[in-house]
Formats: sequence, C-alpha cells, structure tokens
Amino acid sequence: AGTRGQTFDVVIIGGGQSALTVAYFLRRTSLSFVILDNGQVPGGAWVHGWESLHLFSPAQWSSLPGWGMPAVSGYPERDDVVKYLAQYEKRYDFSIERPVSVADVLRGEDGFVVHTDRGVWHARAVISATGTWSHPFIPAYPNHRSYTGLQIHSARYRNAAPFADKSVLVVGGGNSGAQILAEVSRVAKTAWVTQTEPIFLPDDVDGRVLFERATAKWKAQQEGRILEDPPGGLGDVVMVEPVKAARDRGALNAVRPFREFTDKGVIWQDGSHTAFDAVIWCTGFRPALEHLKSLGIVGIDGKVALSGTQSVDVPGLWLVGYGEWTGFASATLVGGMRYAKATALEVAQALETQALVQP
Ligand code: FAD
Repeated sequence: AGTRGQTFDVVIIGGGQSALTVAYFLRRTSLSFVILDNGQVPGGAWVHGWESLHLFSPAQWSSLPGWGMPAVSGYPERDDVVKYLAQYEKRYDFSIERPVSVADVLRGEDGFVVHTDRGVWHARAVISATGTWSHPFIPAYPNHRSYTGLQIHSARYRNAAPFADKSVLVVGGGNSGAQILAEVSRVAKTAWVTQTEPIFLPDDVDGRVLFERATAKWKAQQEGRILEDPPGGLGDVVMVEPVKAARDRGALNAVRPFREFTDKGVIWQDGSHTAFDAVIWCTGFRPALEHLKSLGIVGIDGKVALSGTQSVDVPGLWLVGYGEWTGFASATLVGGMRYAKATALEVAQALETQALVQP
C-alpha cells in the first residue's frame, strides 16, 4: 500500500477491538495514525473463536464507542461480533494495513521505528493493542511430553466433532473451560480439572453486572478509594444456556489437578490412573508482546510496567487491552472504552507538548 514506510504521528499495532476503540478517539484529534494488523481479515481474536461461542452480555453491552452493535435477540454470537467489527472499521474509514506483522519496535531519533514483514514505519508515538490470542498458555505438568493423545488449546478449538465418543480431559475453570466442557460433554465422556472449585455466577447474573463492578472499581480508584472485590469477577463462570444445560445433566463436576501425565492419560494425587484420548487446555493466554522485547520492558510476568496505560520506562509507548493490568475489564468490548479514550487524550497531549517545545 502507498503508506508503507511513511511517518505517522501514531502507529497502532494490532487491529482488534482495542485498536479500533483507541482509533475512534484518536480520530477526534488532528494526529495522523495508521493501524498495522497481522490478521487476514477484520475482527481480531473473535475470528478464531469457536463456532458456538456466545457473548456473555447483550449487544448494547458489547459495543464500541460511537456506533453500537446492532441488536440481536439474546446474546450475540461470534460471527455477529466479527461482522460488527468489520463494519465499524469501514464506517470510520480507519487507515488499516492488513496483513502486516510487527516484529520489532525500536526507539528512533524522533520517536519510534516499527519493523514489520512489510517494511518499516516511523511514528512519534506507538500504541500496542496486540491482545493475547496468539499467545496461549499451557501450565507445566510432569511428564507432559510423554502423553501421546490429542491435545489442543481453546485458542484452536472449533467444535466438538473431533472428540465424539472419546474420553476427554478439559483443563481450566474459566468461561472457556465451562463452555467447551458443556459442548464436548454432549458427545464425549469428559472430566474437568480446575485449580480450585469453579465459581458459578448466579443464573441471573451476566456480563452487565461484571461491567458495573468494573465501573465501580474505576470510580473508586479515581476518588482514591480502594474497593474490595465483591465475590464474582470477570473470570467467574457466567451461566449461559449451554452451561446451564450441562449443569442440569450433571456434567459440571470439577476435580483438582492431577499429579503427572503418562503416555495414555494422567495420574491423580491419590495415585490412581485414568486414560484420556484427548486433553483440551482452557488455561488462558498471556499478552502477545514479542514485538516489544527489544525495548527491554517486558517483565518476567509477561507484562509491562504502566502509569495509566503508558509505559513507565519508554514514554511515548501506550498499551491497551490485554487484561486487568491495563485497566478494569479493559480487554472487553465495552470495558476498553474509558482507557482507550484516556490513552488517545494522553497521546494527543504528549505530542502537542512535544511540538510546542521543539524549536
Ligand atoms: P485481539 O482481538 O486479540 O486483537 C489483537 C489483534 O492484533 C489481532 O488481530 C492480532 O492478530 C493482532 N496482532 C497480534 N500481534 C501482532 C503483531 N505483532 N503485529 C501485528 N498485529 C498483531 N469480551 C466481551 O466484551 N464480552 C464477551 O462476552 C467476551 N467473551 C469472550 C469469550 C472468550 C472465549 C474470550 C477468549 C474472550 C472473550 N471476551 C469477551 C474478551 C475480549 O473481548 C477479547 O479477548 C478481545 O478479542 C480482546 O481484543 P483486543 O483488541 O485487545 O485483542
């Protein structure tokens, strides 16, 4: 594309919902910006979700700023979100280069040099919004390598068909674990391993309540108060219909982690052995921050020290999305809005100040 190699005020890395949200607010400034996304199509991580994935809140509560997700009956599906994000970026006519994979971000003379598989971009500020999907996490278990059965992470799970009539171990107690277990247990013999007893939210609690809690926490923080977490966080299981049905079938019984793998299955803490044809890891993700490694700011916990959403050690670099460490519920559709807005304002302020002090 014609923009390659050009200089922009801001380069946004990643083209999912977090990038689009921050772009919406940047568009209201006079700054020039481009989005570099390695996805083949719009939609970020949602493109890779499993086929039956439903959101845990209605469309109104799953919307980006400016133009809301068109209402659907019940909870939107994966494809509703993908379609919405595609329409959203078109509607606001953002400048998006796709697929462009950012390999490295280095400090340059007047800002940053962004190295990609399609050339080099220069920017005065960089906003990283690369999410977590491309960095699935699998915990360490003794003898893991000796296990010869099928293994997949929820990042690659599509539907239950490959598991029909098999015995399957689902690992992980969050919403992914519960939803995939609910689906697979209809066609396979399943067991469910979770670190601690899973927390099921009351049947009438959905994502809306979780967002209200995130807002309460944010308000408390603004006022210098600390709000104790009420029971029930973003990681707790929302009782969407298929999960309720699985509970009614008695398929939601979780046990604590096993001791080690064997070639055919696992050995439990009491020494007994169970064979499994397959293991599905629903054990979460880590921030996808390979492209920031050279800056030396990614800690051993895989995160970056932030003041607000700006890197403490590399001013001019902001991070949005990812997880709670960049803001309460900031990696959700509606929850990312206030942090994206604050980020865009900060970027504009920083670049304007810089422009003023320069001769
Ligand atoms: P992503 O969507 O992952 O977008 C990042 C983009 O950056 C991707 O296109 C990626 O390919 C690209 N990228 C990565 N690395 C590079 C690189 N080096 N160079 C260029 N591009 C790069 N949220 C809700 O609000 N409601 C829900 O009901 C809900 N349900 C969920 C259910 C599941 C199972 C999961 C996993 C998440 C759910 N979420 C939900 C959470 C959240 O909305 C998603 O995780 C969301 O996709 C995060 O958006 P993002 O833009 O930060 O990251």
